[in-house]
Amino acid sequence: MTKDYKETLDKLKKSFLEKWGQKLSANGKLDEFECFRTVGTGAFGRVILVKNKKHSEYYAMKILDKENIVKQKQVPHTLNEIKLLRSMNFPFVVYMEFYFTDYSYIYMVLPFISGGEMFSHLRKMGKFDEPLAKFYGAQVTLALEYMHHCGLVYRDLKPENILIDSDGYIKLTDFGFGKMIDGRTWTLCGTPEYLAPEIILSKGYGFAVDWWSFGVLVYEMNAGYPPFSAQNPMKIYEKVVAGKFKFAGHFNDNLKDILTNLLQVDLTRRFGNLKDGCNDIKNHAYFKSINFLEIYRKEVKPTFIPKSGEPGDTSNFDIYDEDTKKKVETEDRWAKEFAEF
Ligand code: ATP
Ligand code: MG
Repeated sequence: MTKDYKETLDKLKKSFLEKWGQKLSANGKLDEFECFRTVGTGAFGRVILVKNKKHSEYYAMKILDKENIVKQKQVPHTLNEIKLLRSMNFPFVVYMEFYFTDYSYIYMVLPFISGGEMFSHLRKMGKFDEPLAKFYGAQVTLALEYMHHCGLVYRDLKPENILIDSDGYIKLTDFGFGKMIDGRTWTLCGTPEYLAPEIILSKGYGFAVDWWSFGVLVYEMNAGYPPFSAQNPMKIYEKVVAGKFKFAGHFNDNLKDILTNLLQVDLTRRFGNLKDGCNDIKNHAYFKSINFLEIYRKEVKPTFIPKSGEPGDTSNFDIYDEDTKKKVETEDRWAKEFAEF
């Protein structure tokens, strides 16, 4: 890609770093929103569809429980996630529009991405046809390039964290494992099927782990199942560190070749991690039919648009139990822990 795009990335990085450096401050209140149903749950809370009472716009409100966060020693992580979401500014990445807290909860308000998780569509369709897998793969490539350019390693790429918007384009969400790094890091985190070998082997690792996960994703989108799987995580890890996987019967040579280069245990040979960075991926024959600039500008017509009715329709999301015993503390028990929030 061109000099212009490099300049675009540099600008995006500058604005990212400015926001990243700023302290958090609230810019909303709970009573400005009408709450509907839960559309997702995670380790520390839930995500609810809400509507801004003033503008009638729908949002996804991620609510995190302070007590839970403190008990599980996730205060710094949470601060990190919120600051990252607030700093994001890329067509294929979710960002945080409003943020506020009360004595019990932290509220992050994000644009509602109505098409649901890529995961649900992948399971429903079995697998994606080649053009669709490429269309999504190209967007993920650009999103990872953007994050890495900003100094951020994502570490949680998987179909559950990729949402499909009403226009058919994707948005990456969930910065729970995102980390600003300067070279290397050591923490063990991620999802077994998507973990790079160097993480499993407790080596210092870097941005290349995302390109490994990208290989897992490209495989899974095209096959309908991930390349490394087993009954228990230990067995998965054995296969991952050995770099042992089989191609699905219908994979063509270009797909096989890019996967071989992404699911490459040897870091000095893994695509995305070589001297030309992600250009090796963008220029690979697998992406021959893709014009990355047109993708970035959303000029390409998606071949699949998720069905949805009215704005705020949640039919693309699973049904979850609602949290009925909501408690809001009457005193600020966690003032010290959340001083920076
Ligand atoms: P995890 O346990 O995966 O870390 P989490 O608590 O960090 O979960 P997220 O992954 O951010 O939570 O969100 C959980 C789910 O909620 C998502 O997988 C998705 O289905 C839904 N969700 C999150 N953000 C949005 C959004 N902006 N629009 C629509 N749905 C969303
Ligand atoms: Mg998630």
